[in-house]
Amino acid sequence: MSISNKVPFLDLVSLHAPLREEFFDVFRAAIDTGGFIGGPNVQGFEEDFAHFCDTAHCVGVGSGTDALRFAYLAAGIGEGDLVVTVSHTFIATAEAISQTGARPVFIDIDEATCNLDPALLRQYLESECDYDAANCRLVERKSGLRVAAVVPVHLYGQTADMDPILDLAAQFHLTVIEDASQAHGAEYYSKKENRWRRAGSMGHAAGFSFYPGKNLGALGEGGAVVTNDPGLAQSVRRLRDHGQSRKYHHEVEGYNGRLDAIQAGLLQIKLRHLTEWTEQRRAAAARYNELFSEADGKITLPHEAHWAKHVYHLYVVRVPNRDELMHQLGEAGIGTGIHYPVPLHLQQAYRHLGYAPGSLPVTERVAAEIVSLPMFPQLTPEQQGRVVSEAVRFVASGAAA
Ligand SMILES: *Cc1c(COP(=O)(O)O)cnc(C)c1O
Repeated sequence: MSISNKVPFLDLVSLHAPLREEFFDVFRAAIDTGGFIGGPNVQGFEEDFAHFCDTAHCVGVGSGTDALRFAYLAAGIGEGDLVVTVSHTFIATAEAISQTGARPVFIDIDEATCNLDPALLRQYLESECDYDAANCRLVERKSGLRVAAVVPVHLYGQTADMDPILDLAAQFHLTVIEDASQAHGAEYYSKKENRWRRAGSMGHAAGFSFYPGKNLGALGEGGAVVTNDPGLAQSVRRLRDHGQSRKYHHEVEGYNGRLDAIQAGLLQIKLRHLTEWTEQRRAAAARYNELFSEADGKITLPHEAHWAKHVYHLYVVRVPNRDELMHQLGEAGIGTGIHYPVPLHLQQAYRHLGYAPGSLPVTERVAAEIVSLPMFPQLTPEQQGRVVSEAVRFVASGAAA
């Protein structure tokens, strides 16, 4: 297999190559001014990204995990609280919950979209919790703990079904924090509001990650909290900078969790291209869908809900014999991934939460069959043709049975 025939899972080199000179200017300016923390780059990027997300505020932080942790803390989540989310996600969603002192509760997903199933959320809130009207709080019967928040994850680049989630949250006085780490620029058609809404603008606040492989990635670590609540934004600003809003005057204990000036400058440049990159991803997804018609339905393709504008952070298909398919693609020089192979409720790290295998059947079924195919804006039709013909050859050989 020659190098040129390989199809990488992700190609950041070809993404960045045309932007090298602009990137170098950011490094030069930082070296020439000595400004590495805070300053005009961070402020400028925060303004641009808030505008992009259709929110009033954006606070740049050190990572997506910081963004979630600070958003949860700023929303008043902590010791003795339960936070409802999904098990089918990257561990950071739940880590940030535990790190506030709260405990994650995992709800199963909708099989078509792989996102939080609002019907199962309702079932949990109504049948496993009691509403304490005197104190306006929902209490889980089993643990006696307050259900404080729900965290829908917009996995793979498609938002969760937000109308019913927001309705339930309003009904039970729950805070909604979106994990939008994979959904920069994704949209949701709200029937209730009769308009398209941007990922990150629908909950009380949202966390974004700028990990390099995300749809908007730094050239290192980065993240952001977006919100329409000025108090929450102020609180996150303080948390990211050791709890101070004035140097060496610490109103609370905080963290070292800032977005640095070089990353902010690089992100500002990349943000200008994000809409075009998203269209390229969507075109690539449409092309995969078309090419896969050859597979006679033996490969389950990603489902784009009628209310969604999917930004295809990942293009995830399902096959029964996933590991063998990955092996065959690997032999052909095609990069793949699994997002994610072990659901959080079955991770060793969360054994103390007491979930048994079988407790989240859809999540477990999906985790065993998913495989993420190469997806990035510069993916060529020729590369996609190779991926699809290898995958179709695999299912046609009966190996997927
Ligand atoms: C990437 C990611 C995070 C964490 O982001 P980091 O920047 O790596 O800390 C959180 N949640 C989800 C769903 C992610 O994909």
